[in-house]
Amino acid sequence: MMDGTDWKRTKFAAEIGEEDYNTEVTLCGWVQYTRNLGKMAFVHLRDRSGVAQITALSKTMDKDLFDLIVSVPRESSLSVRGIIKQSPQAKAGWEIIPYQVQVLGIAKTPLPLGVVDRVDADMETRLDNRFLDLRKQEIQAIFKIRSTILAAAREVFLEEGFIEIQTPKIVATATEGGTALFEMKYFDKKAYLNQSPQLFKQTMMSTGLDRVFEIGPAFRAEEHDTRRHLNEYTSIDIEMAYADLEDCMGILEMVVQRVYTNVLNNNFIDLDVLNQQIVAPERPFPRLRYGCIIEKLQKAGLEVRDENTGRNRLIEWGDDIPLEGFKEIARDRPSLYFVTEWPMKLKPFYIHPHPEDPELSLGFDLNYGEKEIVSGGQRVHEPDLLKEMLKKYGLDAETFGFYTKAFDYGMPPHAGWGLGAERLTMIITGAPNVRETVLFPRDRYRLVP
Ligand code: ATP
Ligand code: MG
Repeated sequence: MMDGTDWKRTKFAAEIGEEDYNTEVTLCGWVQYTRNLGKMAFVHLRDRSGVAQITALSKTMDKDLFDLIVSVPRESSLSVRGIIKQSPQAKAGWEIIPYQVQVLGIAKTPLPLGVVDRVDADMETRLDNRFLDLRKQEIQAIFKIRSTILAAAREVFLEEGFIEIQTPKIVATATEGGTALFEMKYFDKKAYLNQSPQLFKQTMMSTGLDRVFEIGPAFRAEEHDTRRHLNEYTSIDIEMAYADLEDCMGILEMVVQRVYTNVLNNNFIDLDVLNQQIVAPERPFPRLRYGCIIEKLQKAGLEVRDENTGRNRLIEWGDDIPLEGFKEIARDRPSLYFVTEWPMKLKPFYIHPHPEDPELSLGFDLNYGEKEIVSGGQRVHEPDLLKEMLKKYGLDAETFGFYTKAFDYGMPPHAGWGLGAERLTMIITGAPNVRETVLFPRDRYRLVP
């Protein structure tokens, strides 16, 4: 069957145009639909670009070939060589008159999942059979867009002089204290899967590389089962030296804007398949102070549970903003906005306190409506202050020694952020669940496939 290379694709379906009429083509794809009328048969052959109609005429064709075409099960993989003929009846305006068909992979029946069925399989079945699920145009569209998103971020980073790095994912210390870590055995030692490249990318600020980025996995052992949390996600991280908060927020605005414009330019068909309309945001993005958000939520009467009394009370300055709070804010701000000047106590030890008020931080989030997509900030770069902060947060300076050491030998001021690739993909594609934006999601219950 695989003699030579005569089964190899010469064009994708969507690449065929009028100029190709009456020429030969080899298409490769999956059998989406077969209709046998006896004298004539139609096969819809789908590749990643679209669908081609194969029209087989029993009269003018070898009987074995005709029988093969009409009997091959749905979703089998085929290579079809034939002539492209203009055809007003065919959806694309052309059809393929085949003279050679090779079955490259037979699909078993029944299929665990219909690819073009009207009724949607439930998410469990879909994820269990992800390879088939991904044959659907609207599922493929998400991953084509995801690819553009990551490329757009890289594009901006490289233009702006960032160097791509990879930091270890097997680590000995938590980034932010012992919570939410996956523990693992590392020979005779205990190790963890890293939650964030934070400590390592900051160490790079003491090397002279100046601007670094990393696109890599991050692991969170959080047990929550929400539509926006995964236990393994892709973090787009930057860190920049001799830079402040505004500098790193500026890079972020450029990245997000480029993501929108590149997706609009390169993935208009995918957006259409998803029925998704997006508009590139203008820079700068609006900035809202944490304090103003709290005032607004107080006016709206938002209550939170008081940790000391266990009773509900009006939200006040210093409280974390719960999802309902952000939902309230999202009514006026359904799109992108920064949240700045968070209380220091809600931000990690490496975030720099505000120079005018140590209760305030130089940390920020970027939200899209109620969803947080980025956290970042100006970092503590002064070694004494860093050690003081570690102590304040109850963290052992000894275990962070590998990190604080980099601050003792000439650490410049620096700033950076971490952007969740899946959260951004959700927003751009309109996916209602973060699991839709990863091929093989890892969540509380899912480890296979
Ligand atoms: P959240 O409050 O939404 O749980 P976080 O504040 O704990 O997020 P950070 O530690 O600030 O998250 O991580 C930076 C970014 O990484 C987040 O803004 C988000 O885009 C992404 N992210 C964090 N945790 C997850 C997760 N469990 N699943 C998917 N993305 C995540
Ligand atoms: Mg955060």
